[in-house]
Amino acid sequence: MSSVGLAQVLSENFYCIRCGEWVYCPEMNQKCRDEQGKEVEKIGEGCLHQDEKGEYLECPSCKERFYIEE
Ligand SMILES: [Zn+2]
Repeated sequence: MSSVGLAQVLSENFYCIRCGEWVYCPEMNQKCRDEQGKEVEKIGEGCLHQDEKGEYLECPSCKERFYIEE
């Protein structure tokens, strides 16, 4: 099981550490507003998966899961 920092995923291309496949890029971020009405970026809908351990990105090639750390 691997993990990756949320800030890193939102700001730079992310490649699978196992097979090198491209997993996510910042262009896929979604903008939304937090409780204070401030615009924040989050991981694009449909890219983020969820299981009992938390939210994760999945490598499309080797299916490695990268859990998001805040
Ligand atoms: Zn991979």
